[in-house]
Amino acid sequence: AQERYSAILDEPAQAKCGAVVKLDMNAGLMADLPSLVSSGAEGVGLFRTELQFLVRNQMPKRSELSALYARVLDAAGGKRVVFRTLDIGSDKVLPYMKPNDEPNPALGWRAIRVGLDKPGVMRMQLQALIRAANGRPLTVMFPFVAQFEEFRAARREVDKAIAREEKLGHVLPSKIEVGAMLETPSLAFAPEKFFEEVKFLSVGGNDLKQFFFAADRENERVRKRYDTLNVSFLTFLEGIVERCARTNTDLSFCGEDAGRPVEALCFAAIGFRSLSMRPASIGPVKSLLRRCNLEDVREVINAARERGEMSVRADVMEYVKAQHQ
Ligand code: PEP
Ligand code: MG
Repeated sequence: AQERYSAILDEPAQAKCGAVVKLDMNAGLMADLPSLVSSGAEGVGLFRTELQFLVRNQMPKRSELSALYARVLDAAGGKRVVFRTLDIGSDKVLPYMKPNDEPNPALGWRAIRVGLDKPGVMRMQLQALIRAANGRPLTVMFPFVAQFEEFRAARREVDKAIAREEKLGHVLPSKIEVGAMLETPSLAFAPEKFFEEVKFLSVGGNDLKQFFFAADRENERVRKRYDTLNVSFLTFLEGIVERCARTNTDLSFCGEDAGRPVEALCFAAIGFRSLSMRPASIGPVKSLLRRCNLEDVREVINAARERGEMSVRADVMEYVKAQHQ
């Protein structure tokens, strides 16, 4: 199937209206890195660092992590890699960490909540990342930030780690960008100052959709009830795009939906200019974007909204089919 897209491998994801969308890939294991070239991705928009912790039966050492992150950056050959700090808890339980008996793990002690309450592992990870960068640019993203203060506290940990490394005489990253995942509705309503302070935001649509509709992402029965192209959800995402545009905050979308061509088309139509997805999705998404006019798609979305449709899917599908003829 990849061959079908080889002709556009080095072409930009440029729509008929001229808008260009940056397509990155999601990764988490060393084995994913070769796809960076074969998929035509511009970089790694989401590197899920917890996978390295999940495939072991004991906590990795800092030196091991640092060597691994360095190999990831080497393999990326100068392309940007967004390292997401440990996102554990909920569905991702480390075999060597005492499991928490929580009635609602998805709403529980997870991701940055663990990182801030027990900062040892986060500090070790930040140190490993700084050492791995070894003078190269470094991009760090914190998962599951629900309020401004959590981002501030995490950002302070980065600053402290930098200061510590400098004191120890290590080479510092040439630049360091710190961002957050937007995967709780609360963060979309954070103070303007948050948007100004965060370097970039990446919508974690898998979690964001689960919390927006109050429908467990692991529970097929309720998950399937709510279309990602539901007008309410798209309107909510549009609000995030507008806030980011106003505050000059880089914005991307890295949930699984970014890899579904029709969904990706709609995200681009409402203003997303950066999407991160599994490598195999880059070709199909790019191919569709290149055949469509985002301004026209936006009109289709607006018309469906005005008619009071629940989802824009049928109308957008109709538009897409017409582009194939
Ligand atoms: C998400 O929530 O959309 C996301 C990208 O993170 P994960 O799927 O790892 O929770
Ligand atoms: Mg998530």
